[in-house]
Amino acid sequence: MASTTAIPDLDRLRPAGTKRSSKRDLIVNAFLKQEGHLSADDLVVLIKREDERISRATVYRTLQWMEEAGIARKVDFGEGRFRFEHSYRHPRHFHLICKTCKRSYEFLSSDIESLVEEVAAARAFTANQSVVQIYGTCESCTTGRAPEEPANSELLFARDALRIAIATERSGMEFYGRGVKLVKDPRAREVFRKLATEEVHHLKTLEARYDNLLKQDPLLESRPTFLFFKGAANGLFAAGTDQLRRDGVDDLEAYRIGIRCERGSHRFFKRYGERFEDSEGKQVFLEFAEEEREHLELLIREYRALVKRQRASGHKPRATERARGGARGKTRSRHA
Ligand SMILES: [Zn+2]
Ligand SMILES: [Zn+2]
Repeated sequence: MASTTAIPDLDRLRPAGTKRSSKRDLIVNAFLKQEGHLSADDLVVLIKREDERISRATVYRTLQWMEEAGIARKVDFGEGRFRFEHSYRHPRHFHLICKTCKRSYEFLSSDIESLVEEVAAARAFTANQSVVQIYGTCESCTTGRAPEEPANSELLFARDALRIAIATERSGMEFYGRGVKLVKDPRAREVFRKLATEEVHHLKTLEARYDNLLKQDPLLESRPTFLFFKGAANGLFAAGTDQLRRDGVDDLEAYRIGIRCERGSHRFFKRYGERFEDSEGKQVFLEFAEEEREHLELLIREYRALVKRQRASGHKPRATERARGGARGKTRSRHA
């Protein structure tokens, strides 16, 4: 796994005016090759193995510098000493900590994050860091099975982000496929067909990307989940597809459902993409958010054009639309 860890450009990170230090480079490289959470003493042992002339003080100083330069992150597992993990291209995460073997396992959860945000917002608290640590006994200590080798969390993050993006594209494809069969207006049918085709294309791109990722680590598929997204597990369009199945959904309503799905999907990917630190997973999310925004804009344009066309042709709204109120439909389109 070590070979896939990207090494930052140390010259760029080195503070201005600091001269090149081969000792420091050796320490930084040794640190970055490790997955998991090292104490300063663990790192000293590791470095001494490579070059015993490097002093403890130099290792400590370098760790401090790495923390300031954003290469290392301090974590406190309540052992009375800090541990360090690398933060370069390594998304922020939570930890499961085994009290028996002292190993720690990393994960992320969108549901925990939104809950934390909700609580902070309700108390008008500006949060800049939250730490979630779950103490207990790990699977390996419970079952006696060999422990999981620490994996590269950048790869795990990318894997799980791609899985969610793929589930979303799949559910989007189903949604638009269903829409094509449902809508009556020929142009609306074209729009839904175009979007269904685009989702198929995106899906292929994402799947190719996923396959590429798997080549970097043959065990990647079988590694435990890193990123938990309960709310999005079935694809963000699944609820929309159910709504399309209801009675009395006409073309305008189909557009409105599509707009809601695309908007939800765009927000979701943008929000998470922006929150994560530089990584392949972040890239996937931000690209995806951009594509969903384009779909959203197209749907809004087409929705408005259809409203206009229907008015021009003296179209009488259906019973369901009348019940909902024409004025409300208009307001919605303005918000759209
Ligand atoms: Zn354990
Ligand atoms: Zn960690």
